[in-house]
Amino acid sequence: MLIDSHCHLDDYEDLAPILANAEAAGVRKLLAIGIGEGPDTMHRALELANQHPEIFATAGIHPQEAQRATPEALAKLAALVQDPRCIAIGEIGLDYYHLGNPDIPTQHAAFIAQLKIAAAVRKPITIHCRTSELAIPAAKQKYEPADAWEDLLALLAEHWTPHNLPGIMHCFSGNEAQAARSLAIGFYLSFAGNVTYPKSVTIQQVAASAPADRILVETDAPFLTPIPLRGQPNEPANTALTASFVANLRGISPASLAEQTTANFHRLFPATA
Ligand SMILES: [Zn+2]
Repeated sequence: MLIDSHCHLDDYEDLAPILANAEAAGVRKLLAIGIGEGPDTMHRALELANQHPEIFATAGIHPQEAQRATPEALAKLAALVQDPRCIAIGEIGLDYYHLGNPDIPTQHAAFIAQLKIAAAVRKPITIHCRTSELAIPAAKQKYEPADAWEDLLALLAEHWTPHNLPGIMHCFSGNEAQAARSLAIGFYLSFAGNVTYPKSVTIQQVAASAPADRILVETDAPFLTPIPLRGQPNEPANTALTASFVANLRGISPASLAEQTTANFHRLFPATA
């Protein structure tokens, strides 16, 4: 059995064939990310979780929507995360890539406010972190010299690690040092379809060497379709492609990787076991 630890199921108009394909591919549990198109629709993933036993949900305000983390939106989030089927807060974090994103102080404030909500309810967080490394020059100018990973790890050290709670680095795309620092504070590394891309040499190195008890697999569907389907819309069934690729990197069978990542997900979220 595989678990897709990060997918955007409220993006699909017709979910029935998507869930059938996942089932056929051995993907038996899915974590639907509840960011919606902003706080107004962040409850949609939880609605799906309450309709389908194989779906669990998160809720959160994505860093791209940080300016919408109003007191009302944060109160809505605090209420959603009380639901037993809402098992994590996210995806939350920092995104210094797109020129149109909120400025850094706005992103930090929204992130810190949501860490507080997660700590109060004692549920894990799932993190989105994107640097300006590959951004267009205007965006680089807007965000640099700030580094999203440095800022993220500093904010976590101040506002999260004291609570002794775990989290997920979703779509892990950092380097070996960032992986080591994430693992040191109790986080799991979740690998998405981009690990299969030829240019992702560093991500592949991390996926090959990360401790077996701290790795997860995900699709981030409908985004980041793995090879060989790259270019088509993604769906949770393709967790199997990414999982096989990571198994191959680690020199183990797909069945062993499925067993490890499923055990990891269940340890992180005992209510889903
Ligand atoms: Zn996502």
